[in-house]
Amino acid sequence: MTVSHHPDITTLMAFSAGSLDEPYALVISTHLAMCEGCRAQLDRLDVIGGALLAGVEEEPVSDDALDALLGRLDEAPAEDPIRMQPRGADVPAPLARYAPEGLDALPWKGRGGGVATCELPVSPHAQSRLMLLRVGAGRAVPEHGHGGHELTLILRGSYSDRFGRFGVGDIADHDQDVEHQPIAEMGEDCICLIAVDAKLNFRSRLMKLLQPLVGI
Ligand SMILES: [Zn+2]
Repeated sequence: MTVSHHPDITTLMAFSAGSLDEPYALVISTHLAMCEGCRAQLDRLDVIGGALLAGVEEEPVSDDALDALLGRLDEAPAEDPIRMQPRGADVPAPLARYAPEGLDALPWKGRGGGVATCELPVSPHAQSRLMLLRVGAGRAVPEHGHGGHELTLILRGSYSDRFGRFGVGDIADHDQDVEHQPIAEMGEDCICLIAVDAKLNFRSRLMKLLQPLVGI
């Protein structure tokens, strides 16, 4: 799998610090299961975060201790559960409990225009939503902006927008200033895992009217 689009470094830092809300953390975990580069990056961030924390909690870290910590950046990282996930599976392991029978068996709700959604359950204290979006091959998601941070991970198929082509494993990390109109490529439906902390803002008046009905 060739992954071309990765999370923002600030998103990975928040994941490393454990400060991402559950839906965002799940999208990142799923990307990590599919992206070796980000797993290595996360290992580096974890080491740096640990060193900073040690500096806060204890006496100032000596130069030797810091050198030793930074030296660990070059070492081969230890195996962990994420590292042992199967590659290229339709349902990456972090998502397995949400879709034990596969993506096609989920209770999809048709939203019209070749678009379907499936809301995934999150714990009551989560501040944001986790959902799957399925866009028919060759169909477009209506142009929209974001009321907040949106993380989108491609699980099947691909789409293109003004940021490029996004295929399986790619992640789009958009903040509230972004407007875009993804179009699924021909040949296969595009299924994405999405974490959003606010409703999408559709630009057209028609879509604004429809938004409460379609629920996205
Ligand atoms: Zn990555």
